Amino acid sequence: MTSGSASPTVTGTVIAVRPRLVQVRVGRRDITCDVRKGLLQGVRGQRKLIAVGDRVKLAVGASGRGVLHELLERRSKISRVGSVRPRREHVIAANVDMMVAMQAVNLPRFNRRGLDRLLVLGEAGGVCCAVCLNKVDLVEKSAELDPLATYRAIGYPVFQTSAIRGDGLSELHAFLRGKSSLIIGPSGVGKSTLLNRLIPGIELRTAAVSAATRRGVHVTSRIEYLELPEGGVVLDSPGIRSIQPWTSPQELAWHFPEMRRLIGSCRFRDCLHRGEPGCAILRAITEGVIDAARHKSYLRILAGLIAEGPGASVRPRSEGK
Ligand code: GDP
Ligand code: ZN
Repeated sequence: MTSGSASPTVTGTVIAVRPRLVQVRVGRRDITCDVRKGLLQGVRGQRKLIAVGDRVKLAVGASGRGVLHELLERRSKISRVGSVRPRREHVIAANVDMMVAMQAVNLPRFNRRGLDRLLVLGEAGGVCCAVCLNKVDLVEKSAELDPLATYRAIGYPVFQTSAIRGDGLSELHAFLRGKSSLIIGPSGVGKSTLLNRLIPGIELRTAAVSAATRRGVHVTSRIEYLELPEGGVVLDSPGIRSIQPWTSPQELAWHFPEMRRLIGSCRFRDCLHRGEPGCAILRAITEGVIDAARHKSYLRILAGLIAEGPGASVRPRSEGK
């Protein structure tokens, strides 16, 4: 039975999105809701746009099952370019305050390009971003952690953790407390292990399999909604691979904080900072003010956006940046 139109609506938070089903937390209760075809069409145009973290209004029927009525306005959203349909926005998480981009020192190897891509994702969503480098127990020489200086200089909080040995966990926990955060990073960097340490009793499945067989194990991009003991919410994101942030070529440089203040100084207003004469960003690289490796990441993401991004005309300019 579906609930009648007279049943009162309650407000809750989406904690899981499955095909045709959405799990919503209302207070301490988790309610499975049907997403009727066309139900949200008037709100956002497509069901795919309901994301973990969304606030929704629903009616609960006598059976305990709910029906979604309304998607409430978001204070933030983190979006990627759809992996199947590149011109479609895919909202990964809604209403987060922060995004923690995770990498490992090794196993899998530290990936600067991947890290920069994640940071753009968070910046484009307008949320505070931080970097977490896990598995510091695998290196003892501080020289191997050098690339992190770039991120600190840009102003990102940087956490160096070992989910196994415990290094840096209290600092990270303090940072996450009371906020809603998306923890994101490639498979195997230790997200589940870390969250198992931060949230006693949750027992997320970690990859106890060998590095050789790991590939393809965590192919899902489901997001787990988890609550920290002293308040705060963490949205974990297993196995997200080469993400293309949802932004336009013209906006991309705005999502590199160290480039932002120079954008207006380029000779051409529509400069894409890839070799144009009088480019203030290229000049800053030669002067050592901007890290050339970050610019390389910029060029990679730019090329992807030009080839198959959402297209400049589809996107409004980002506000407040
Ligand atoms: P996820 O895919 O990001 O959730 O990664 P998992 O939490 O499943 O961890 C992948 C593998 O890395 C597992 O074998 C973990 O035991 C291991 N691991 C996680 N954190 C650490 C760490 O801090 N140090 C070391 N040496 N291994 C870790
Ligand atoms: Zn330029």
